Amino acid sequence: MQYRGLLLAGVLSFGIMPLAQSAESGCPAPALSRLSRHTVKSGETLESIAVRYNLIPTTLMGLNPDVRSGKATPGQELLIPPYNGIRVEVPAGQSLKDLAARYRVRADVLYEVNGCQQSPKAVFVPGVNWSPNEATKPALVGVSSVLSGSPLTGSSAISLGFGWYLPNGATKPVFHSGTDLLANVGTPVQAIGDGTVAFAGNQSTYGNLVVINHQQGYQTRYAQLAKISVKVGQTIKRGATIGTVGQTGTPTTPQPHLHFEVRSNSKLGWVAEDPIAFIRK
Ligand SMILES: [Zn+2]
Repeated sequence: MQYRGLLLAGVLSFGIMPLAQSAESGCPAPALSRLSRHTVKSGETLESIAVRYNLIPTTLMGLNPDVRSGKATPGQELLIPPYNGIRVEVPAGQSLKDLAARYRVRADVLYEVNGCQQSPKAVFVPGVNWSPNEATKPALVGVSSVLSGSPLTGSSAISLGFGWYLPNGATKPVFHSGTDLLANVGTPVQAIGDGTVAFAGNQSTYGNLVVINHQQGYQTRYAQLAKISVKVGQTIKRGATIGTVGQTGTPTTPQPHLHFEVRSNSKLGWVAEDPIAFIRK
């Protein structure tokens, strides 16, 4: 039951996060200048507050050190950002480009989200999930012995990577929770780790979706499939064919591709990670 809710949260991350646009500069006001405040009422949880603002709980934990235990206490005042991401102090001598590379977001998106400032002291990095070990380990480095290889045989080009991007002709960044790997419709799709099938069926924008739970709190998702060849509860080995590439659901681009996600389990839900670190291992 909890699982179903988390899947829906995943679907929401496909959605468009609107940005307030300043008419004069063509640049939005910096995200960090647009934080609002929420006073915790009795009966509210960190999760319910996050849902109310279309955020994930870890975003609130990152911005509000008082709730990093995962608990919100009535009367507490929380800072609420306009969309998911983390606040980062810009280290001396580092540029926005350095930060964009470190967090694997597009430099132009980072620049725009932060009000087109050349050298801000602190920035909001969109789409990055706060983690308690943030200070000691680089963000978004997927190191796991349980996942390796590619879900497609041979090398396949990436048509759209993980994270925020500006679609052609659009003025609002959109968050992409996985990586799109180009492949012809009908190409076999393989599990990239041993695991158990947690979901196999049609799921809204994901189309035909297979979700596999792995050891060490990892989950992989294979979306927009044509055919599904596994069942919920089935145990599978790395390299097993789980279905074929298709164009079901709502693909981000018209070119046929596999929408592939890697998520890690936190006590607050399945958090999307950049699949590239796993695929290229
Ligand atoms: Zn995609």
